Parts: sequence; structure tokens; C-alpha cells
Amino acid sequence: MLKLDFHPAGRHFLQIPGPSPVPDRILRAMSYPTIDHRGPEFAVLGLKVLEGIKKIFKTQQPVVIYPASGTGAWEAALTNTLSPGDTVLMFETGHFATLWKQMAERLGLKPEFLGLPGIEGWRRGVQADMIEKRLREDAQHAIKAVCVVHNETSTGVTSDIAAVRRAIDAAGHPALLLVDTISGLASADYRHDEWGVDVTISGSQKGLMLPPGISFNAVSAKALAASGHARLPRSFWGWAEIIEMNKSGYWPYTPNTNLLYGLCEALDMLQDEGLDNVFARHRRLGEACRRAVRTWGLEIQCADPAVYSPVLTGVMMPEGVDADAVRKIIYERFDLSLGTGLGKVKGRMFRIGHLGDCNDLTLLAALAGCEMGLRIAGVPLKDSGLPAAMEYLAAQPNVVSLKAA
Ligand SMILES: *Cc1c(COP(=O)(O)O)cnc(C)c1O
Repeated sequence: MLKLDFHPAGRHFLQIPGPSPVPDRILRAMSYPTIDHRGPEFAVLGLKVLEGIKKIFKTQQPVVIYPASGTGAWEAALTNTLSPGDTVLMFETGHFATLWKQMAERLGLKPEFLGLPGIEGWRRGVQADMIEKRLREDAQHAIKAVCVVHNETSTGVTSDIAAVRRAIDAAGHPALLLVDTISGLASADYRHDEWGVDVTISGSQKGLMLPPGISFNAVSAKALAASGHARLPRSFWGWAEIIEMNKSGYWPYTPNTNLLYGLCEALDMLQDEGLDNVFARHRRLGEACRRAVRTWGLEIQCADPAVYSPVLTGVMMPEGVDADAVRKIIYERFDLSLGTGLGKVKGRMFRIGHLGDCNDLTLLAALAGCEMGLRIAGVPLKDSGLPAAMEYLAAQPNVVSLKAA
């Protein structure tokens, strides 16, 4: 076993926006023995998860499951659909959008990075009108894909994917639409088919409540057709062979068997709660969290209430306060992990995750830890934020209560 310096009593509070806490049910499901990935039992599991995951993406089309982190599925989406030197239009919503753009550069693509100036772009979601304008200028159709992050995990800002689809259609442009919802899937409403997304990328360790290690590409017919002539090198990531073997419930290589047990359990749990209830629970926890932050007198990273993330809340520190020093106090004193500021906002903010296996009291405990840590760090607070969150949660019962069950 990994030897820790000490074992603190009670549960660790993992309130980072992914990995999110893994429920006991899923941990137990994952402890089943690993089986023969070419045997008959495996096909039952394979077909069940391949079919079940489609409901979460809201798609009738194939969803490819990779034994890789989300970053791998980003690469799969680009290499399956594009050719060396292709121009791709990417939108700067935050750190994850920036990393995806760096990957496109490394793969030999030519990303154009659209965005609002300075830190503004990191406080608001995608600006679909900017995408429409740029696509209208591209009369030669040099742009082959538009890439957008649905839930920007570095900031706590979502993007309106349906609006991006409308922008592409309004410009009459044939570019593919590639969307990263690695941290949005199964926490925020997402509709691969209805929104006309060509490739949706997601991962296991956020809303799906699994450990890190598997990731996804939901693939439209148009994307599949593009993969037939896309020339970026790919082997492990190639869709065609995987989709072909998936038809009988198998993979061309050894899939992540135990994570697929976990996925099977997660799909059951999401189905039992009901996806709409899952989304409502996340929205409600997000609202409670923001009420606490506002009552503290601190600013929320997301500056547009229309696109607040239901997954996490970015909390900005007053001038001169190092957010990571505050996080360190909270971790050491209260065994509570918060997300660090990434990229342009490093040290300026921290992130409270309220996704996945999280309920009212988990959130309130996390807020209590934050509040105590902020006070110890000497951050001036206008008022205690906990009562504001408590009042809201008490007045707005969760859709699914134990009484109703
Ligand atoms: C977590 C995350 C990633 C990176 O996924 P990994 O599993 O760490 O490779 C990319 N994009 C977004 C929006 C994320 O939240």
C-alpha cells in the first residue's frame, strides 16, 4: 500500500472539479475479477456500456470508448477528422481550450484562436457571433473544424453549443463541430444529436463519477465520413476498426475491463436518478455555492449569469491574496481539496467542484471548510456565506428526496 505520513480520520473532501468522488457502489462494481476480454461474458458488458453511454450523450450514433484520459480523446477527435496543415477555428474560453489548441499545433494543424481580449474571455462563454463572422469571411472554406469547450473546467463557465451550431449554419459553412464536454457530460444538459455536434469528447472522472482512465468520442455520420479521407496519422485512435469490433461488443485491443464495470454501474445510477434530476441537482448545488460566495463578498469568475457552470464555481481572490496559499491552509487544516487556478488565473482564484456524487451536506461541508480557511488566511469576508447556502437549500428541496423514493 501507498504509505502516507498519517491517516486523517473521516473522509477526505475531494471538491476539485474532477476527478470527482467515486461512489462506493462504483468502487465495488470495479472490484469484480477482470475477465477474458475475448470471452462471451465480455461481449455482454461491452454491448451494454456501448449502448447505455449513448443515452448520456443523447445520440443514436456510435460512441467510441478509449482506455485513455480525456486528453487522448481530444487527440482522437482531431486525428480522425483532419489533415496536416488544416485550419481549425478554436475558441479561447480558458485553460482547457488553450491546451487543446496547443495539441492542435503539435499535431501539425493550424489553429486560429478566437476570443475576447485579456481575461474577459476567461469570464464568459463562447461568442457565437464571432465564430459566425469569421466563418462568413472564409469563403474558400479553408476552416475545416470549429472546436469549442462546453464546460470550461478552469473557470466555471459553460458555452452555448446550440448557438455555435446555429452560427455555423447561418454562415452556410461546412466545417465540422468538435466539442469538449469532458467535465460537462452527466452534470450539465448535453445533446450530441440535437445540437448537430460532429465529435463530442468526454472523460470518465468528472460527471460520470468514475476514476480517470476511460474517455469518449461520440461520432456523427459526417465526422465518420471525414475520417475516411483525413490524413493525420492515427493508429491506436482510429475509429473504423474500433467501431467495427464494437458491433459485437469487443475492442481491437485490451479495453479497460474494470472501468467498464464501473461505467455500467454509473449508467445504472444515472438512469435511476433520471438525467433531468441529475442536471437539476447540479444546478441547485451551483446556485447554493454562488450564494455563499457572494455573501462572503468575493467575486465569481464567471461574469455572465446565463452561463454559470453547474459543475464548479471559480472564486476570485481580492487583490494581493494568493489563492493557492488559501487552498493550502484549507487542505492542511480541513482535509479538503479545492481546484487550483490554471494558466492565466493561477494564484488569482480557486475552484469549488460540486459535481458527480455530491449532495447538500457535502457542499455545505466544503463551503464551511472554505469559509474557515479564508478567515484563517486573513481574507476579509463581508459575512458568513454558509447561512445563505443553507437557506437556499432548505427552501428548495431536491427533486429526488428520500421520502419520494
Ligand atoms: C479534465 C479536462 C480535460 C483533460 O482531461 P484529462 O482526463 O485530464 O486528460 C480536458 N478538458 C476539460 C474541459 C476537462 O475538464
